[in-house]
This record gives sequence, C-alpha cells and structure tokens, in this order.
Amino acid sequence: MPMTADRTLPFEQAAVLGAGLMGRLMAVALAQRGCSVDVYEAGSAEAEGAAARVAAAMLAPLAESAVAPAPVVRMGHYALDRWPQLLGELATPVFFQREGTLVVWHRQDATEAARLGRVLAHTAEQVPELPAMQRLDAAAIAAVEPALGHRFAAGLLLPGEGQLDNRGLLSALLATLQSMPKVRLHWQSPRTLDDFEPGRPGQPQRVIDCRGLGVRRQWEQVRGVRGEVIRVHAPDVSLARPTRLVHPRYPLYIAPKPDGLFVIGATEIESEDRSPPSVRSTLELLSAAYAVHSGFGEARILEIATQCRPTLPDNLPSLRMPRPGVLQINGLYRHGFMIAPAILDVALELLCSQRSALAARFGLAPTLDSASGSVPATLGPTS
Ligand SMILES: Cc1cc2nc3c(=O)[nH]c(=O)nc-3n(C[C@H](O)[C@H](O)[C@H](O)COP(=O)(O)OP(=O)(O)OC[C@H]3O[C@@H](n4cnc5c(N)ncnc54)[C@H](O)[C@@H]3O)c2cc1C
Repeated sequence: MPMTADRTLPFEQAAVLGAGLMGRLMAVALAQRGCSVDVYEAGSAEAEGAAARVAAAMLAPLAESAVAPAPVVRMGHYALDRWPQLLGELATPVFFQREGTLVVWHRQDATEAARLGRVLAHTAEQVPELPAMQRLDAAAIAAVEPALGHRFAAGLLLPGEGQLDNRGLLSALLATLQSMPKVRLHWQSPRTLDDFEPGRPGQPQRVIDCRGLGVRRQWEQVRGVRGEVIRVHAPDVSLARPTRLVHPRYPLYIAPKPDGLFVIGATEIESEDRSPPSVRSTLELLSAAYAVHSGFGEARILEIATQCRPTLPDNLPSLRMPRPGVLQINGLYRHGFMIAPAILDVALELLCSQRSALAARFGLAPTLDSASGSVPATLGPTS
C-alpha cells in the first residue's frame, strides 16, 4: 500500500490540466482524498487528443528494459501490483491481466534476439525483484501459447508482465469522475499555467499539469515521438498474452484485448507528424502479425491510428514544480500505462509533503529548487 493512502492532502481545491491518462488518474486520486477538483481538457470526454487513447497499454517492465533504464523498470514492477488496487476503486470494470509477455523471433533476427537476451539478463541483475525470465524452445513455446504451434524455434517468457484495456480504463476513470460530487469536468477547455495563480483568492490551491504534448509552449524540451498502431478483429486467433516479435528497427507486438480484438504496434519514429500511417509502417505491422499467426490473414482492420508519445530529451519521465502550487508531470514516453501508478503515488507524496520516499526507492533523484531550497523542482531517474 502506498505511503500516501491514508494521508490528508494539505489543500482542498485543485485544477487538473489535461484529461488523458495522468490527468484522469490524478483527478480521481485527489477527489478520493476529499479534494474539490476542476478538470480542464482541450478535447472531449473521448480523449481523442490523448496518447492514452491509441496506446496498447502493455505493462512490461522487463521487456521494455531493452529501451528503458532501471528506475523505469522499478516503477513498472511496482505498478503491476498497484494497478489492481486502483482499478478496484473505479466505477466500472477494466480488463487487466498478468499472463506474462512472450518474445519470439525469426531465425534471421537471432543475433538481435541474443543481444536482447543479454540486455534483459543485465536488467534482472539490476532489478532482482523481477520474476526470472524463462528461455523456451519450440516445444515450450507451443505449450505456453498453443496457437503459435512450432512456428518459432526459440523464445523468451517474461512471467508476471501484464496489460490492460486502455480505452476501458479511460472510460472507467471518466465514469468515476462523473460520479464524484466534488469533481467538475470542463471539456473543449484548453488551459495553460498562465490561466492560474494558485493560492490566490478565487483560484485553485494547486494546479496539476498533465497536458502531455500540449505543454510544449511552457516546457519546450517535451517532444512527440510518432507511433502507429493497428486494431484488428480476429476471432479465430487465440493468444493468451502479448507477443513481441524481435525486429531490427523497433519492438513489434501483438496485444490481445477482450472480444477478439488485437492491437498491433507500434512503430517508433522521431517525428511529430500526426498524419495517417504510412504504407510502409502498415505493411510492416500487418506482415509481422501474419508471420506470427496466419489467422490474422482473415482479421478485419478496425482502425489504423497515429499518435505521438510525450517525451523528454532523455526519454525519461519527470515531475517538476516550476513554481509554488504547480506540479507538472510529463515525459511518460512509451511507458505511460506501465509506470502511471508509480508516478501517481510519487506525485501524491510530493503534493502532501514536497518530498517522496517512493521516488528514492525507484532511483529518482530530486533536484532542489534553488529559490526555495526545499521544493523538488524536478524528479528524474539518476541512472
Ligand atoms: C502508439 C502508442 C503506443 C503506446 N503504447 C504503450 C504501451 O503499450 N504501454 C505504455 O505503458 N504506454 C504506451 N504508450 C504511451 C502512453 O500512451 C503515454 O505515455 C501516456 O498516454 C501519456 O500520458 P499523459 O497523460 O502524459 O498524456 P496524454 O495521454 O497524451 O494526455 C494528455 C491530455 O492533455 C490534453 N491537453 C493538451 N493540451 C491541453 C491544454 N492546453 N489544456 C487542457 N488539456 C490539454 C490532451 O487533449 C490529452 O487529453 C503508447 C503511446 C503511443 C502513442
């Protein structure tokens, strides 16, 4: 249980900017602790402008350690236990499972797979609390995921990793917020920090800025990293867990969701271009899925989407208090769902006491604000 669970907040009114993933989570958590909350969102309740709407929402700290350092992995591991608690408090159920991640590769990518295996083994040494990965041969793959048969000669199983339904979560958070008497939701209402003077009469006492890419005018280092994903309906394919295919350019995955849906993703391109997916990306994603399971040949394409991940220069998340009464949370990059509960609990600790023991546990280091000498101006990984 997080340290903040029983603590009373030292304020009674807050404004939350952005109702994507972090904004909704923060608003629910603050309201649960008795705070009166105004949520300002540039778009609608459908979260059409949020990275969270497009994401596959895989919760795979060891798999992601191929591109993420130890503090992010620790946060991801913490979050796997914390998600069921958070989901259990919501107004509607959300699909969540921890059947692990299966990693497979074609023979031509065996060198890249060996490199990945070494990186994951190194992560396991750095973060020993992670469940041990298992090396699988063809028969073991067929036993774990029968639908794949003997198609792959070797693979890795990362036990305990999870995934959830991103859109189900956004809807459940919305329904929860709508049921809370002290919450006011303002749609089509873009705001910036300049619209608030926290603590002044008639103003919220705290402003929590969760605008993702919308923050850029006030946090110039935040950039977008383009990702393309495809949603298909494939009732004839049965996969128990997300399957990752080792790929020379970016990790490809097929994430099964409820009702025969699969999310196939995701490209990763250093660009803020949000135009529709390219033919090349679409071909790559669909070929990868077809190569994993020929049943995807008869799948129906429901959606091909593009979004940009809000990312800082070091690709790491950050919480900062640029001035009294303001907390900004950003840079969740490709790990927003994986680490959101950890970021939420660190944020609550900061809001309660301007310090976070949890952050230290993850290996996040506060940089003291030079003006006050006590406010952690920025929290970011130390390694
Ligand atoms: C293709 C893709 C795949 C992904 N897959 C995964 C995955 O498998 N696992 C995982 O953990 N993460 C994944 N992610 C990452 C995850 O989606 C993000 O890290 C997460 O959504 C970031 O949350 P956020 O709340 O900071 O931003 P967002 O979810 O983008 O929300 C920001 C919100 O702020 C609003 N806003 C913007 N400007 C303003 C303004 N001026 N005023 C008010 N509101 C404003 C926006 O409309 C939006 O609703 C993926 C992302 C993408 C794009």
